[in-house]
Amino acid sequence: MSLLVVGSVAFDTIETPHGKRERIAGGSCVHFSYSAAYLTPVKMIGVVGKDYPKEFIDLLNERGIDTSGIEHTDGETFFWSGKYEGDMNEAETLETRLNVFGDFRPKVEGEDKDAKFVFLANGHPLTQLSLLEQLNNPTLVIADTMDLWIREFRPDLEKLLNKIDALVLNDGEARLLTGERSMIRAARKLLAAHELKLIIIKKGEHGSLAVTPDFVIATPAYPTEAVIDPTGAGDSFAGGTLGYLSLCGELNQGTLRRAIRYGTVCASFQVEDFSLDRHKGLTRADIERRLIDFEHML
Ligand code: AMP
Repeated sequence: MSLLVVGSVAFDTIETPHGKRERIAGGSCVHFSYSAAYLTPVKMIGVVGKDYPKEFIDLLNERGIDTSGIEHTDGETFFWSGKYEGDMNEAETLETRLNVFGDFRPKVEGEDKDAKFVFLANGHPLTQLSLLEQLNNPTLVIADTMDLWIREFRPDLEKLLNKIDALVLNDGEARLLTGERSMIRAARKLLAAHELKLIIIKKGEHGSLAVTPDFVIATPAYPTEAVIDPTGAGDSFAGGTLGYLSLCGELNQGTLRRAIRYGTVCASFQVEDFSLDRHKGLTRADIERRLIDFEHML
């Protein structure tokens, strides 16, 4: 059974100290799926407008990703533009045009309703909730979110948090959501408030912290020399992590530790070029090679 993911499928315009790219393939669902697909079959649920090029869909299909759940509707595709400066740990959003993604309510059909591993990638909490409500009995549902939804749609987000198993977010978002400066306190507060199984806080070049009621896993980032564009690093991290968990079929301390290492390796490739460019030519063997390298460092 495929790992099911819903989220944005986008055009991104991105500026970093290494250059500017316009209307390149982006979106939380795309970046997540492209990495998860190294490890497990993936089915994407999303929406695009008439302007979305076939070549972007072809890229996903060539990776073996099932894109039959992407709706093609009248209107324009979601557009995001962002800029990175300095240490590039945080994007400055210049523009978000939700377009067809704005009030998107995904439809889950047939055997997808029985999906066991599910990722609610960054998007409106009501879009995330509406997918979740159509599932029969998922084993593990992990959601991502961002400052826009925390600031402007908090009641919807809180409703979502009460229905999922786990949340991934970055340190700035964790601070915004909980008011806590300590990341371990922020994680524990979220676990308790929403009876969650797992919180993963991403700290950019400082790695990640996974917190459950029973254990904590601290993982450094893979030391990448050339960060060209960090866009999608969080999604790629989540893709590698959940891709491995879905492959194993269960969440425990051992599988999670290894899953996070896969996620870290996927994210390290993601930042080495714009859009999907660095991942395009890679195979599972490249991921495994860097994982071995990483484990030697650890
Ligand atoms: P990340 O860098 O992993 O946090 O995710 C970057 C991706 O998120 C980009 O490719 C954007 O298209 C997408 N994105 C940005 N803002 C939003 C939003 N408000 N909702 C959904 N996706 C978004």
